[in-house]
Amino acid sequence: MANGPITLPELPWADNALDPVISANTISYHYGKHHNAYVTKLNGMIEGTDMADMDLVSIIKKSAADGSAGIFNNAAQVWNHTFYWHSMKPGGGGAPSGKLADMINDSFGSYDAFRTQFGNTAKGQFGSGWAWLVKNGDKLEVVGTPNAETPITGDSTPLLTIDVWEHAYYLDHQNARPTYVDAVIDKLLNWDFAEQNLG
Ligand code: MN
Repeated sequence: MANGPITLPELPWADNALDPVISANTISYHYGKHHNAYVTKLNGMIEGTDMADMDLVSIIKKSAADGSAGIFNNAAQVWNHTFYWHSMKPGGGGAPSGKLADMINDSFGSYDAFRTQFGNTAKGQFGSGWAWLVKNGDKLEVVGTPNAETPITGDSTPLLTIDVWEHAYYLDHQNARPTYVDAVIDKLLNWDFAEQNLG
């Protein structure tokens, strides 16, 4: 049975759950318009091709390998956005506990050092892109990716992400990306999701 077409996953919380860091108004555009448009465009691009029956991750990896930029950009953005929604929850943020706390101390020295590095990567990403906490071997790393680029085309395992495209924060914070980034880290990061992604 065919997998396709690719669908827009439901949000893991109500549209106003992340307010005031991320308002329902932002969600209405970011999820309802941007994320939805990536899904619609991707389905239009893969219809009638050998990718039409593939799952999303396979489409991302094949289009990256083939240099099919249009399909890659839309497919990766579908995946990245779904991962981003799950990377946040109301009442989240702050330092994790348990295994992740140990891994952060081992990899970065302290939670504060991690927080600074993750924040600086998100704030310093030039133009549009993403900041990621990933697991690479036994270590955690912070990486930034431009545009639609995603760690899942490489060897590391993403644990959390922050969208730093302007559409993620402009309605609520205008040009103040640092304010948005700090609030996501301190108030919204979903460490339960990160722990699930450790495998
Ligand atoms: Mn976005």
